[in-house]
Amino acid sequence: MASHAPSRHSGLRALAAPALALALLLTACGARDGDASSEPTAFGQIDRTRLLAADSNPGDWLTTGRDFGKGHYSPLDQINRDSVARLGFAWEYAAGTRRGLEATPIVVDGVMYTSGVDGRVYALDARNGREIWHFNPEVDGQINRKACCDSVNRGVAVWHGKVYVAALDGRLFALDAAGGNVLWSVDTIVDKTRAYTSTGAPEVAGNVVVIGNSGAEYDARGYISAYDLDSGKLAWRFYIVPGDPSKPRENPELELAAQTWDPKSRWDVGGGGTAWDAMVYDPELDLLYVGTGNAALYNRAKRSPRGGDNLFLTSILALNPHTGGLVWYYQEVPGDMWDYTATQPIVLTDLEIGGVKRKVLMQAPKNGFFYILDRKTGELLSAKNYVPVDWARGVDLKSGRALVDHEAADYATGPKLIFPSTMGGHNWNPMSYNPRTGLVYLPTLRAANFMLDRVKGHEYHPGRLNMGITAMLVSGLQLGAPNLTPALMRQLDQLARKYPDLRMRAALTAWDPIAQKTVWEFESPGWWDHAGVLSTKGDLVFQGTDTGLLRVFDARDGKLLKQIDTGSSIIAAPMSYQIDGVQYVAVMAAWGGGGWFITHPESAAYTYGNEGRILVFRLDGGAMPKPQPLADPGPLPEPPPLKETRADVLARGGLLFAQNCSICHQNMPRSGLPDLRRMSAAVHRTFNDIVLHGQRRQLGMPQWDDVLSEADSNAIHAYLTSIAWQAYRQQQAGSKAKAAPVASR
Ligand code: CA
Repeated sequence: MASHAPSRHSGLRALAAPALALALLLTACGARDGDASSEPTAFGQIDRTRLLAADSNPGDWLTTGRDFGKGHYSPLDQINRDSVARLGFAWEYAAGTRRGLEATPIVVDGVMYTSGVDGRVYALDARNGREIWHFNPEVDGQINRKACCDSVNRGVAVWHGKVYVAALDGRLFALDAAGGNVLWSVDTIVDKTRAYTSTGAPEVAGNVVVIGNSGAEYDARGYISAYDLDSGKLAWRFYIVPGDPSKPRENPELELAAQTWDPKSRWDVGGGGTAWDAMVYDPELDLLYVGTGNAALYNRAKRSPRGGDNLFLTSILALNPHTGGLVWYYQEVPGDMWDYTATQPIVLTDLEIGGVKRKVLMQAPKNGFFYILDRKTGELLSAKNYVPVDWARGVDLKSGRALVDHEAADYATGPKLIFPSTMGGHNWNPMSYNPRTGLVYLPTLRAANFMLDRVKGHEYHPGRLNMGITAMLVSGLQLGAPNLTPALMRQLDQLARKYPDLRMRAALTAWDPIAQKTVWEFESPGWWDHAGVLSTKGDLVFQGTDTGLLRVFDARDGKLLKQIDTGSSIIAAPMSYQIDGVQYVAVMAAWGGGGWFITHPESAAYTYGNEGRILVFRLDGGAMPKPQPLADPGPLPEPPPLKETRADVLARGGLLFAQNCSICHQNMPRSGLPDLRRMSAAVHRTFNDIVLHGQRRQLGMPQWDDVLSEADSNAIHAYLTSIAWQAYRQQQAGSKAKAAPVASR
C-alpha cells in the first residue's frame, strides 16, 4: 500500500532554448579560466577557513543554512526588487521519488549536493542540473513503520571532500564528494527493537560528525552520537533523557537529569527527547548546540507520575564537541506534555540587546515563543510569543522558566484546547535571519489541538506508536481515531466556545527579534502553507507554497513582487548561489513531512502528483515547465462483494486501521499513495500477503505479521471494502440524481 516508487529514472529537463543561448553567452563571458564548457574540478572542499570566510564568497552555500550560523540568508543581490520581475526557469532535476523533500541544498565549487527520500544524495552540476552522481542508501521499507513524519531527509553536511548523510534507518554514511562511493558507514541505532529513525542533516563539529534521531511518538530514548570524520569511529554519545535507573548511567549529566524525573517513570516507553533536526556547531566558541524533542509518553502524569521538569526534554544543549560533555542547557518547556519540541532550526548571530553586543542563538520552537539566548552562557535574553499561546502565561526572564498554565493546558485532569497545536507555531521549516533588515522571516502556523487522555494507565507497544493520548487539530482534521462520545463532543464544543477564532491559519511572519514584534505578515490562502524561507541582500524573501507557487516578497514591507507557478508542492526552503556571474535560486519540491497525510484540497500534489523535483531559477530564464496533470482516475470501480458484515468486526477493522495504517493511508489518494477505495481484484486477493507478509516491502509497505493476526488483517480488509462500498454507493446515487433531478423529487 505505501509506496516509495523510485519509478522513473532521475534526470534533468533541458533549459528552454532562448534561455539556454543566453546562459551560454553569460557563461562564456564570465567563466573561470575563460572556458565555457569547464566541468567542476573540485568536490566538497569545505574547511574551517572557508566556512569562516563564507561572507567573502557569497556565491557559495556551504551548510544547509549557508554559513556556520545557518541564517538562511544570501548576500547576493543580482536578483533584487528591481530585477525580480525577470525571474524565470533555469533548470530542473527529477529526484525519482514521490515522498516529501525537505532539504536545503549545499553548493560549493559549482556542484550542488542535496538529499532526498530515505537519505538519497544527489550531486549535480549547479550550472545546468547535469547529474554527477547519485546515491541511494536502499533502506528496507519496514522502517516506514517507525517514521511518524514521512520518509524525509533534511540535508547533507559537506566537509574536506566528503558528503555525510543519515539514512532513514539510522545508518550514517560518509561518501566521496567526487564520485559518491561509500567511504564508511556506521549504524547509529543502539536498540533496533525501538522505533528510531534519522531524518536530520548531520553536523560537522570540530573533528567529529554528529547525528541524532527521531521517534518520540513511538518509544525512542533520544541520544546524539559523534563519529570521527575520517574513520567513522564512535567518539562519544550523549543520552538526552535518563534510562532505567537499575542500569549504569551512560553519561554523568544524567545524574542531574534523573533528579527531575520520578524514579518510577515509564522508562519502558523510552522518554523521548529525540534530537531530530537542530544542530549547529559554533566555530567561534567551539560549542555544539542541539535542540531536543518532546516526551514519550506525552502525558506527564503517566510518564513521570510525581511530576518534575524531565530534563533534558525540549531543551537546547551546548556540548563540548571534543568530549560530548554538557557546557550549559536551557529547557524551554518544563515537563512537556504537548509535543513541544525544541528541535526547530537554530540561528547563530551577533545582536545588540539592551545596549550590549552579544553572541546569540535564536530559535522559534513549536511552543510559540521566540527565544534569544547568550550562546556563550545559555543565559535567556529574550522570550516573547510570536503566535497565540495558552500553555504558558509567559517566560520569566530572571529565572528563565516558562510559567506553565496547568489549569489551561494540563489534560491529565480532562480535555483541553491548547494553542499552539502539536504542529507547532513553527516547525522544522527553516526561518531566515536577514542582517540588513534585522528581521527574522518565519513560517508560522496558528492552530490549536484538543488533547485528551481517555484511558487508564498505558499499555506499552514496543516499536509502535505510544503517544498514549488523543490529539486533534481543531479545524476538524483528526489525528488517530477518537471515536468521540456525544458527551465528549459537547465538552469539546464548550472548550471551543471560549475562542473567538479557531481557524487554522498559516502566515509568513516578519519578526523583529529585538523589538519582539511582528513587522509585517502575509497570510497564505492555504492554512497549511508553512514552507521554509530564504531572504537575500537583494531585499527579497522567497517562500514556496503547498499549491505549487514560488513567491517572492519585498523584505521591507511584505509586498508580493512575483510568483511562479511550478506545479509542485513546496515545503522546503529555497537557497541561492552564484556561478560565472549568474545568481540562481534553487528549491526542492514535493509534498510530505509531518502531517503529510492531511494535504489541503488545493495542493499541487492533487493536480500534478508528487514527483520530487529540484527547481532552479535565474533572471531571464525560460517559462516554468509544469508536470503533466494527473489523469482523471474515472469513476470508482464496483468493489468485490462484502462478505463480512458483522458490525463488531467492521468496527474492529476500522480501529486497527486507525491505529496502525492511517498515519500513512489517510486522505491523500492522489499524491503518491494508492487510493484504497480503488484496490484492484489482485490486491483484494493478495491483501493479507501485502499487509502481513511484506509482499510490497520493496515499495515501502512494511509487513505487519508480528503485530496483526490473520483475523486482524481480514477485519481491516473488510473495513476498507465497506468504505469502498459506501463511496461507490454515494457515487451511484449522485450520478442517478444528476441524471434525473426532477424525477427523484
Ligand atoms: Ca513529536
